[in-house]
Amino acid sequence: MISQPGAAELVQAVIGWLADQDAAARSPYMTRVAINALTTVQRELEQGGVAEAEATRRLAGLLGRSGDFAALNAGLVEMIRAGAMAPDDPVLLDHLSRTALAMIAIDQPRYRHALTEPKADFAPRALPVTLVEVSPRDGLQNEKTILPTAIKVELIARAVAAGVKRIEVASFVHPGKVPQMADAEAVIAALPHMPDVETIGLVLNKRGALRALETAVDEIGMVCVASDAFGQRNQGQTVDQSIAAARDVLRLAHDNGRSAQVTVAVAFGCPFTGRTDPARVVDIVRQLAAFAPREIALADTIGVARPAEVTSLIAKVQAEIGAIPLRVHFHDTRGTGVVNAVAAIAAGVRTVDAAIGGTGGCPFAPGAAGNVASEDVVYATGDATGLDLGALIDSAGWLSRQLGKVPASALAHAGDFIIS
Ligand code: ZN
Repeated sequence: MISQPGAAELVQAVIGWLADQDAAARSPYMTRVAINALTTVQRELEQGGVAEAEATRRLAGLLGRSGDFAALNAGLVEMIRAGAMAPDDPVLLDHLSRTALAMIAIDQPRYRHALTEPKADFAPRALPVTLVEVSPRDGLQNEKTILPTAIKVELIARAVAAGVKRIEVASFVHPGKVPQMADAEAVIAALPHMPDVETIGLVLNKRGALRALETAVDEIGMVCVASDAFGQRNQGQTVDQSIAAARDVLRLAHDNGRSAQVTVAVAFGCPFTGRTDPARVVDIVRQLAAFAPREIALADTIGVARPAEVTSLIAKVQAEIGAIPLRVHFHDTRGTGVVNAVAAIAAGVRTVDAAIGGTGGCPFAPGAAGNVASEDVVYATGDATGLDLGALIDSAGWLSRQLGKVPASALAHAGDFIIS
């Protein structure tokens, strides 16, 4: 039973478009992702189980909308057929998944978050995705080769030239433990004036924040942990201690007029204790939200998350923190980095961490691969990030030569899809 007027036709139109040869050739990966998502939505719509008129009335009331979904969906179908909107457009996927969730929520209270969330306009519009480039910090921090300051500065300049507007430039951690980041202050001091770029310095405690405040870095990024075992090895803190440190760091940053945000590490899985309980993450995020960070990031530090877990955890966390934006941070250890980023965007997240060349790793997780590659995320998300794919691929090759290794990204090997 289809409860939303026109929704079935909309789903059919999207699947039909994606199934054609041109779309498949344009972006086979996104096509697969989109078809899987839409098939799920279609199944959920068909299994609605609530009388059509009643469902529409209740849904419209709950959303505070007029409920003229028939016209909205017919308009979307027209746009898809006219080629004015790509069926892999994150806005459309977002609309479809919210539609399905909202309908299911009428019968199943555990999906209530789909109804309570602040709604963007349903009218199709471009929803940009901000890519936060993390190669100079998370990437290089976990590479064996220690690069000279000048090369780090060039890496940052290359990312900015490719269009990056937010970038992790260094971490203020113990230079004995993390020699790759020992020149944090020197890197920041050597950066050219970049008026429209926000630089981020990572810290683990108040001491690091004090160092960061002595530099010109625009924003302080604090890391909390979702597992005591990981926290004690990574930063000598239990979960509770990391939350207390976050409170101190955020307060210090705010007192000094500096932007600050916090990342929850091992939010999906820990190398010592296994899968992370989502309820634990929600509880941590609830506490962090009280410190008014600019945003909260969910990090799959060791690369174990799967798209369904990403979608589920984001929904739970969004229901908890309301207006504070979410960021996501994925590693590509098991080949799910890009699909997790796409799932997060479809779930409403608008800021994604990634690293040129898929650089990095994790010292505590044997076999852990690097960050999801910026060029792979940019390819998969089309125009959403506005970044220069060619420049990123070029820099991935350059960076891998500096590190004396083969780049870890798919795009660095395959290149963009261009017919010459
Ligand atoms: Zn990471």
